Amino acid sequence: MIQAVPQILALDFDGVICDGILEYFQTTKRTYETLWKVGDRDRLDQFADQFYRLRPVIETGWEMPILLRALVLEIPDENILDNWPEILKNLLESDQLDKSLIIQNFDKVRDKWITKDLDSWLGLHRFYPGIIERLQQILNSSTQLYIISTKESRFTQTLLAEQGVLINPQHIFGKEVKQPKYKTLRQILDQNQLNPEQLWFVEDLLKTLQLVADQPNLNKLGLFLADWGYNTQLIRDSIQNNPQIKLLSLNQFNQNFSYW
Ligand SMILES: [Mg+2]
Repeated sequence: MIQAVPQILALDFDGVICDGILEYFQTTKRTYETLWKVGDRDRLDQFADQFYRLRPVIETGWEMPILLRALVLEIPDENILDNWPEILKNLLESDQLDKSLIIQNFDKVRDKWITKDLDSWLGLHRFYPGIIERLQQILNSSTQLYIISTKESRFTQTLLAEQGVLINPQHIFGKEVKQPKYKTLRQILDQNQLNPEQLWFVEDLLKTLQLVADQPNLNKLGLFLADWGYNTQLIRDSIQNNPQIKLLSLNQFNQNFSYW
């Protein structure tokens, strides 16, 4: 049984607190340009809405340029929704691309943009409705707030600080920790000498939650899948009878823990 109020609430950032979809598309467009010749990059803007809709099929960031490739090649949306892993594999093969090259290009594009024009990059991030107020409430309560993200901590911190949300920098774990989230959660538990039930974790990527649930010493954590993030209805339906992972709505998130 999980507790009525967590001692620690750990939150993923992108897809839980912050909607970075506009940034994803812009970075994807720029990366696409480095992998395939496009001439005029803005020509790709016609695919933006489709990209926003289909983004939930993506498991890790480097797949995004391939999703845009699929749209350029006019692979139907339904097909992408149903068969993304297979389409991804096929496109990598047919275009003779490997994952590491795409990751390299994607990171380089993003880094260059951040170095050249940090403000415009930060400006493409939006917060989900009510989230900032709720974070403030939690910061003023007995529950400690942690962020576990794949974004670099300095950006998470800057984005939150711009909204007046000041989180202890030692409670923000980002890309730089270079370890899976379940390890970070284990670390937080140990540092605070808590029982797993006292730590709740909200994430929008089911795979990450499943990995946590699979750790024998972490399976009693409060685990929540954020239904407002980047996941599909199919994924949300798949945990209907899952005893370990609970589906959470933004409306619930924004209310007291007793509603979770
Ligand atoms: Mg996320």
